[in-house]
Amino acid sequence: NGIMRKPIIIANWKMNFLRDQANLYVKKLIKKLGNKENIEVGIASQDLFLTDLIKLTENTPISIVAQNAYWENFGPFTGETSPKALANVGVDYVMLGHFERRELFNETNSTVNLKVRTALNNGMDVIVDVEELEQVAPVLEGVSEEQMQQIIIGFEPTFAIGTGMSASTKGAEDVAEQIRKTVRKLYGSDVADSTRILYGGSVNRDNLKSLIKQKDIDGVLVGKAALDFQSFWELVEII
Ligand code: PGA
Repeated sequence: NGIMRKPIIIANWKMNFLRDQANLYVKKLIKKLGNKENIEVGIASQDLFLTDLIKLTENTPISIVAQNAYWENFGPFTGETSPKALANVGVDYVMLGHFERRELFNETNSTVNLKVRTALNNGMDVIVDVEELEQVAPVLEGVSEEQMQQIIIGFEPTFAIGTGMSASTKGAEDVAEQIRKTVRKLYGSDVADSTRILYGGSVNRDNLKSLIKQKDIDGVLVGKAALDFQSFWELVEII
């Protein structure tokens, strides 16, 4: 269909690894990846390691992703991380609305939406996660057509996250297609055709091959299968 949406694969490390492991993993990735330009590879790390990883990946095609941020930039919010500070140290994307944030830390569509808007207003690119189609419009409320260029949508069905039970290829594509339709309704065809939509939830070597061939799935978010570098690398090679 002539539309170029660069495929992207993101390792969601969640709250794993210590500093040396994180750095070693990314050094291996840099070496293997070389100057590969036809795909984008992202690493979503806990905040503490982000600045190390940003330094390591300077002049490489690897994107560094924060796993959360607050909806204010400064002030008396002890323990929170400011999106402006993330942008300031050179983080490429902030991931917002992940199922674990909603489930364990009481985030809702409305708090995710506040976070999305603040992040965008500070020039951060956002990977906004939804578990179902109904969450798409609420988390995008108030996001302008122009700001949509800075958004990637991750579709991660609850039953599939960390369970080893991925959605079926068809099931994942059906929802991705519906998400694109929703974006089309809200923002028009140009935006819908250029917005990247990712699938996440028990992605592995076996299901990735068919998932990535689907017309509305532009990439994947990988948890468990990205905890071991070699296993993640095998997925990168499939993309
Ligand atoms: P999983 O995690 O691959 O372990 O299911 C995916 C995610 O939570 O992003």
